[in-house]
Amino acid sequence: RGAGAQAERAALLDAQAAVRADIQRGIDEALRRGATAESDIFAAHLALLDDPELLAAAGRGIDAGLSAGLAARQSIRAQCEVLAGLGNQLLAERVADLKDIERQLLRALYGDAGSAPELFDESILVADDLAPSELTRLPRGKVAGIVTAAGGASGHVAILARAMGIPALVACGPAALTLRHGQQLILDARAGLANPQPDAAELAAARAQIEQLAARLRSMQASASAPAITQDGVAIEVAVNIANADDAREGVAHGADAVGLLRTEFLFIDRRDAPTEAEQTAAYQAVLDALDGRNAIIRTLDVGGDKDVPYLQLPPEPNPALGLRGIRAGFAYPEMLDNQLRALLAVKPLARLRILVPMIADVGELIRLRERIEQLAVEMQLAERPQLGVMVEVPSAALLADQLAKHADFLSIGSNDLTQYTLAMDRCNATLAARIDSLHPGLLRLIAIAVEGAKRHGKWVGVCGAMASDPQAVPVLLGLGVAELSVSPRLVPEVKSLVRGLSQRQCQSEAERLLGLSSAQEVRGRIVELWPAA
Ligand code: PEP
Ligand code: MG
Repeated sequence: RGAGAQAERAALLDAQAAVRADIQRGIDEALRRGATAESDIFAAHLALLDDPELLAAAGRGIDAGLSAGLAARQSIRAQCEVLAGLGNQLLAERVADLKDIERQLLRALYGDAGSAPELFDESILVADDLAPSELTRLPRGKVAGIVTAAGGASGHVAILARAMGIPALVACGPAALTLRHGQQLILDARAGLANPQPDAAELAAARAQIEQLAARLRSMQASASAPAITQDGVAIEVAVNIANADDAREGVAHGADAVGLLRTEFLFIDRRDAPTEAEQTAAYQAVLDALDGRNAIIRTLDVGGDKDVPYLQLPPEPNPALGLRGIRAGFAYPEMLDNQLRALLAVKPLARLRILVPMIADVGELIRLRERIEQLAVEMQLAERPQLGVMVEVPSAALLADQLAKHADFLSIGSNDLTQYTLAMDRCNATLAARIDSLHPGLLRLIAIAVEGAKRHGKWVGVCGAMASDPQAVPVLLGLGVAELSVSPRLVPEVKSLVRGLSQRQCQSEAERLLGLSSAQEVRGRIVELWPAA
């Protein structure tokens, strides 16, 4: 029961302000450390905390006689139910963020209920689930790993743990909760294993392995900025996938040769109206400026599908992944596309900019876009032109790569979508997650065809999907003739070191044989035999 609407409204506003200040502190602190994944997640929390609809619903609860805490909780829970019911994995993960906000508001209103967990020097924290704010508040030096019963590999806790470099095993099921406080446990997150009954020999072996790994990471970081050249002298460009200039700086610090993919949608989502041309130019220029002379591939807006931008009011789609997304949405909203192209053409120097187009299905779309870029460049009286590349993420684009390469400067394989569309498996579907594997021979054959087509016109092919960050895929991609790998910033040292240990010629002859296998499991099995270090 509330103590009157006026008092409860004031209490809620106070709590909201306290949580806002707390989140802002978290953002500032994360940015100081260059932890952009962390700061992005907290920025999304700020938007949820200030969501006018949630606040209005809580206000109505207070007016009906509820306390501030109960009103906030009810309005948040109602929103959680809506999100969870939409059947979209990414939106369902927002539920965890909303519950995190609820917990923080209640703590600000009524104080801390639970005590913080008691941590040892090398604790593996076991929980049903963790909230992102709980994870980042943990004393970093004491947490050696995380095991959760719930959650998901693409959830925010998993993303944060990855960015923080903490080994994490998520979605282990209720068995995880049978682990007892203080017991010993070996966690091998890379292998996806936890050993709850290690003997002395296993513990000693694990400790030795941890030390070896740490030494390897140190030496890989030390040589990260040198080029990645295979044993037989083939240079592979190792670039980074980024969302903003902070990520670009992080990439450079980890030794990246270039930016292989800037996803511009992050500039457009989580806001009320489209960024202006000047705002866009400033954001793109900031990325180029952060790169110290390196090149940047910037992708035109890829909205639609599961990436919604409310103010665009894209019509609802029965099958969003097969609907108006990527360049199709661009052509449907020509003013938005022109704005972005003009903003891109305004950066300096254009020689370091490469424009990349998502979701191209045939060469007609590419020619149309190239002509539009040419018209705008003439209007802007530009002397230079940026390079133009095509994402190969629709199977038809891989099959028609020779036609595309005639009109493009380079091709970049979007393995996330190419896998989704080749295997007809939704990339957001949690129950298919274990089977949607980019090393499927069907996908490898498409990549081989794409590289072959590009070579016919002397053009290079890169990979910017998550496949490039999968160590087991690296030798295969090199073998198929890929010249650039664009990976997450932290993985640059590891991918470069892996490339340096490979022979392109050997990768090539083995890759040809892999194309004849019949499943992704068989391909992975063979890779483990051929390249145990991958
Ligand atoms: C891809 O599809 O592989 C890709 C890089 O694009 P996104 O993940 O943004 O769809
Ligand atoms: Mg894609």
